[in-house]
Amino acid sequence: MTGFVGSGLRAPSRRILLVEDEPSLRLTLGDRLAAEGYAVTAAEDGEQAFELLAAESFDLVVLDVMLPGIDGFEVCREIRRRGLGLPVLMLTARSEVVDKVVGLKLGADDYLTKPFETAELLARIEALLRRGSAPLAESPESYVFGPVRVDFRRAEVRVDDRPVDVSSLELRLLAYFIEHRGEVLGRDRLLDEVWGYDAQPVTRTVDVHVASLRQKIEPNPSHPRYIVTVHRRGYRFDG
Ligand code: CA
Repeated sequence: MTGFVGSGLRAPSRRILLVEDEPSLRLTLGDRLAAEGYAVTAAEDGEQAFELLAAESFDLVVLDVMLPGIDGFEVCREIRRRGLGLPVLMLTARSEVVDKVVGLKLGADDYLTKPFETAELLARIEALLRRGSAPLAESPESYVFGPVRVDFRRAEVRVDDRPVDVSSLELRLLAYFIEHRGEVLGRDRLLDEVWGYDAQPVTRTVDVHVASLRQKIEPNPSHPRYIVTVHRRGYRFDG
């Protein structure tokens, strides 16, 4: 475990847990994030990450997928199992594209493929933290449709009274759909309003997350009843 001292540009510093087994990347990223004013704690494997998560509170986790022992997916799953709603940004190798869908199902919020520009990582972190701290005040405390109950205050989704793992991004996406139910929502609008940054040019991102959300809440995900595709225009929530 390594602590990095931030330069104090932000007060109070947002706390980031960096889980990365490659020493050079751990050091470089840790230093860079600290230089940006974040309070960074580094873990070199999943075990250390769990210890730290149990002992301290963090605002965000940067999580490498390929770790010795427990891999990043398992770490992410465990974070959600423990009921921690903090944003998780996963780092994957280029060959792990298929892992995106797996990771989203386990509750990750965003992905970055290695190698990446540090500026891109910083932009994603900023966006996730902004989103994480955005008030859900306009949303109702809970909303029920079909077998689905969404409890926004507890950041919890239940289907047939069984809890379902959703990421904070998926919850926000669902909240946005609920707030705008009956409206056709284009992918660009969803990217702007839910993701909050336009660094990612691919609207396919929206489709991937909608598909993941459907897997979790739709009785029949291949024939969605609540999050409906509107041909050439986007999506509409009919809950
Ligand atoms: Ca690794």
